[in-house]
Amino acid sequence: MADCLFCRIVRREIPASIVQEDEQALVFKDISPQAPTHLLIVPKKHLASLADSADGDAALLGRLQLVAARLAKEMRLSSFRLVSNNGKGAGQSVDHLHYHFLAGRPMQWPPG
Ligand code: 5GP
Ligand code: ZN
Repeated sequence: MADCLFCRIVRREIPASIVQEDEQALVFKDISPQAPTHLLIVPKKHLASLADSADGDAALLGRLQLVAARLAKEMRLSSFRLVSNNGKGAGQSVDHLHYHFLAGRPMQWPPG
């Protein structure tokens, strides 16, 4: 996707504060953090949203959650929140699947 913001970050065409990467995923700091730790976990493959994923993406989706679990271990976080906004009504503003990894402050439920 030539003009997708997160594809451009994956290709290093736009700078981001990258925390880690593997063959399938990139983790970088959210530009507008909503918690002391606010990372975005992004598949390198372009998927517009979770709703656009298919059976063939099962391993990739699992991988993204394992990245979150690994981040929590590495950062010694006892609690964190993993959120994927799906669709404009849920607050999705970038049409490239991503998980928000939030930690470092008390979290309210339900989310707003
Ligand atoms: P969404 O609103 O789609 O759930 O999440 C998109 C997130 O991307 C937002 O939290 C927003 O702050 C973040 N974001 C938007 N543009 C950029 C950018 O250029 N760089 C980084 N690092 N994050 C961005
Ligand atoms: Zn993309």
